[in-house]
Amino acid sequence: MEKPMRPEHPIALITGASSGIGEATARLLAANGCHLALGARRVNLVKELGGELAAQHGIQTFASYVDVRDSASVKSFVDDAAKALGGLHVVVANAGLAKRLDRVEAISEETWQLMLHTNVEGVIRTFQAALPHIRKSGWGHLFTIGSVAGHNVYENGGVYCASKYALRALVQTLRIELCGEPIRLTSVDPGLVETNFSRVRLEDDAKAKAVYQGMTPLVAGDIAECIRWALALPDHVNIDEIIIAPRDQASVYKVHRKM
Ligand code: NAP
Repeated sequence: MEKPMRPEHPIALITGASSGIGEATARLLAANGCHLALGARRVNLVKELGGELAAQHGIQTFASYVDVRDSASVKSFVDDAAKALGGLHVVVANAGLAKRLDRVEAISEETWQLMLHTNVEGVIRTFQAALPHIRKSGWGHLFTIGSVAGHNVYENGGVYCASKYALRALVQTLRIELCGEPIRLTSVDPGLVETNFSRVRLEDDAKAKAVYQGMTPLVAGDIAECIRWALALPDHVNIDEIIIAPRDQASVYKVHRKM
């Protein structure tokens, strides 16, 4: 009989764990017995979260600065995490952002580079650094946080949409390349989730609030629940892609609002 490889307490690494979906995923995976490696640029926030979850759930945590735009930073975060926690099984490549709403012909080089360096290259760096550790640990599950913007484009969102379309291409390729290994791969692709996302994008609290006005958006915990569920399924099951949107959002262009 094949030896079961799934550990009782998987070691999960999350990028962008200082806020929103990454933080909610850390909280839910901790409650489900995972040991955690938490990374973000706001290192004080991930350190605080790691300390809180270790005390609350009796798990091991490692928290460190990481900037996913920088290969050396990602490599040392992943290597140090695997060393501190004794291996690596699950990676949630969540760090990402949208910046501004600009027409393709008008977007500044600094703005488009920020999105592509973070949302596309950041995931490549994270998976490249993590895969040798996952193979050594013998069982794994990779997650990406895509978007409905990786399925349908919208005006003034060209580069953000391009980044999430590119991410889907990467994930689909990797799924083929990993087939035959004990490593699963799931992309969770949300619609509107109320996090810091719109504040970061629009740099204005009132404009960010208006994005969710009159409708009921998803909360970060809804996305965390998708990750918990896909992870909990038996080893022979791979959830390739989850598209999840609020009931009030039927497409990128159709949001029902009670005004
Ligand atoms: P959020 O609350 O703003 O969180 C974004 C996280 O990414 C933060 O923890 C941030 O941490 C981290 N991050 C950004 N740039 C980084 C970098 N260079 N290096 C390391 N970490 C970085 O937004 P969120 O909604 O949770 O976003 C998480 C993911 O969900 C993103 O990939 C986003 O594209 C995707 N998504 C969000 C929505 C939505 O409506 N909210 C919908 C679809 C997809 P630091 O700033 O501390 O580094």
